[in-house]
Amino acid sequence: MEDFKELLTRQRDFFYTGKTKNVAFRIEALTTLAHIIRSNESELMAALKKDLNKSQFESYMTEIGILLEEIRFTLKHIKEWSQPRKVKSALAQAGSKGYIYPEPYGVVFIISPWNYPFQLAIAPLIGAIAAGNCAILKPSELTPATSKLIAELIARNFPKEYISVVEGDAETTQALLQEKFDYIFFTGSVPVGRIIMEAAAKHLTPVTLELGGKSPCIVHKDANIKLAAKRIAWGKFINAGQTCVAPDYLYVHSAVKDEFINALKETITELYSDNVFQNGEFTRIVSERHYKRLQKFLDNGSIVIGGRNDIDSLIIEPTVITDITWDLPIMQEEIFGPLLPVLEYDHDSTIIQKINDRPKPLALYIFSESKEFQDKILGNISFGGGCINDTVYHLSSPYLPFGGVGESGIGAYHGKGSFDVFSHEKSILKQSTSFDLPFRYPNRKNALKQIKLFIK
Ligand code: NAD
Repeated sequence: MEDFKELLTRQRDFFYTGKTKNVAFRIEALTTLAHIIRSNESELMAALKKDLNKSQFESYMTEIGILLEEIRFTLKHIKEWSQPRKVKSALAQAGSKGYIYPEPYGVVFIISPWNYPFQLAIAPLIGAIAAGNCAILKPSELTPATSKLIAELIARNFPKEYISVVEGDAETTQALLQEKFDYIFFTGSVPVGRIIMEAAAKHLTPVTLELGGKSPCIVHKDANIKLAAKRIAWGKFINAGQTCVAPDYLYVHSAVKDEFINALKETITELYSDNVFQNGEFTRIVSERHYKRLQKFLDNGSIVIGGRNDIDSLIIEPTVITDITWDLPIMQEEIFGPLLPVLEYDHDSTIIQKINDRPKPLALYIFSESKEFQDKILGNISFGGGCINDTVYHLSSPYLPFGGVGESGIGAYHGKGSFDVFSHEKSILKQSTSFDLPFRYPNRKNALKQIKLFIK
């Protein structure tokens, strides 16, 4: 294994040269990153096809295009974001001025998962570069072609002491975690998130944890059923359900359940054909272990759509399951695959109570035409973020910070959020020397009375 102590020392030495703090340097690095992505589009698509059978359309939309957009947005705003910001001064501090100086943390560690292996490694890197840090990246070992390509592209275009990719598994991450980083950004599962936070605590290193969990999707009786079915099918089956914010399960009002299932059947065929084994475009399950884990759920409840699967290609077709109860195995863990269990409800209070009984979800989706119903759910359930009358789409807005709450994560990024995550906000009060208000000093006549005029 590489000498990580030495790698960190080299990165820290480079950071202290001050080069990465120069905004022109950061702009150049982001421009290089965009160029790498553009000029290696076909290599990236080939790697994603090899690792996950991702179609070119999905690869572009969810891995390549989304990053180019994020870089474009960051380049547009980076000068403004990196300036010190003037803030108001308190009355008792008359004469002084307050400023917030964003400064980079130093050497940051980015650990990413396999489900969007390129996007989830590079999106945090954009924030780390924009904020002026050095970075070490550890992509997932479960998508080796993409991780290898990331390592090659970064090594070819950036000096190791600035940005470095370390390939490897849990053991490699553990070895790196022994070192003292200035910030750790982790995307992955809840159990590994705990391990990362525990390791970070030893050095008091701040962390962002982008985790997962079971994200509910509610279809109310007044929803636009056809659109709901289409947007749910898209958000659930994109990447074969291996999306952290995919609707994990549905809560459908019993008055519209049959109509909704029929609409879902139609829309699944329309979007994914009636034979995903032949069309060659449907993302596969990442590994045999995950395939078998999902296969076991197929005898939970009653399959009403799909259910076929093929171990040779590791493909499971879009599958919808009814007659679901909370005690079934499929409801005990994040599904992370193309299986969609459907629960029914009659009263709003049931969904609120059942969801609140469980860890706070990363995402939640509401399909309803009623503002009152939407507000009731938003006001009574805590979750990371989500959509009204859509699924998954919120994560692609640079104006919406993306992250979890409670067990689904700590911190948020995207857009300015990514710059902020990797910046410490240094608060500075600049004092005037042209006068010196006497009231704060002791040992004066009426000192207490005078200070009470300013501080009440
Ligand atoms: P994972 O937690 O198994 O692995 C993530 C990373 O951690 C990988 O790089 C892996 O090598 C490393 N790792 C694994 N075990 C480790 C250990 N014991 N010690 C140190 N490092 C370890 O997650 P995954 O299976 O790659 O990804 C799926 C999970 O990630 C799902 O739970 C999903 O919801 C979540 N996820 C969250 C987001 C988000 O933005 N919130 C995005 C994608 C995925």
